[in-house]
Amino acid sequence: MKGMIEFYRDLRVKLVASLPCYLKKEVDSQRGEGVFERSIEVLKLLNKIGYGRDQNLVLDLVFNPEAAFLPPQQATLETDYKEELRKNFGIFFNKLITITNMPVGRFLQYLNKRHQYDEYDRLLRDSFNPRTVDKLMCRNQIVVGWDGIIYDCDFNLALGLPVGFGISRHISDFDPAVHSKRKIVTGIHCFGCTAGNGSSCSGALE
Ligand code: SF4
Repeated sequence: MKGMIEFYRDLRVKLVASLPCYLKKEVDSQRGEGVFERSIEVLKLLNKIGYGRDQNLVLDLVFNPEAAFLPPQQATLETDYKEELRKNFGIFFNKLITITNMPVGRFLQYLNKRHQYDEYDRLLRDSFNPRTVDKLMCRNQIVVGWDGIIYDCDFNLALGLPVGFGISRHISDFDPAVHSKRKIVTGIHCFGCTAGNGSSCSGALE
């Protein structure tokens, strides 16, 4: 896939890359043996071509906790990431995005396997932060599936929960006046977006 790097650069594509830690041990235990080294290699290639250094070539990294806890403060962690990656590997990037693990999909399996679902659910509920509600990504965006079905967010897509409450579910019938005022389909997974500093595809909400 190395040829993609020039392709992205030529089109000025903004890149958002997952790197759950700046330590090899943590990344390999979460993503598999050797993933950290391969990630570092690619980040160096991206830097070399201008990503993370040229203002038109944005490279953001994503952190998510490797276990059942909330992400630390985004700005503080970003400082640590920048310092460690620059010092140890000479790597530069623009912004760190912290994302809370949603109790769905693979992470739900992880919780169930360790009998930690109830504990994590309680942590998310107890950490509810009402200041995040106005900034939730489902308040100002939609997600469209490959088949044209509209969802409030990508978590709802993963859970098979399209937009509801009687409005059209297909992009061919999209109506900004209706869809921008839609009632959002929520579930207990939404506590993942409202816990602590909040969470979205573009990072913490406050
Ligand atoms: S999971 Fe819930 S709160 Fe979070 S973006 Fe989706 S609908 Fe909104």
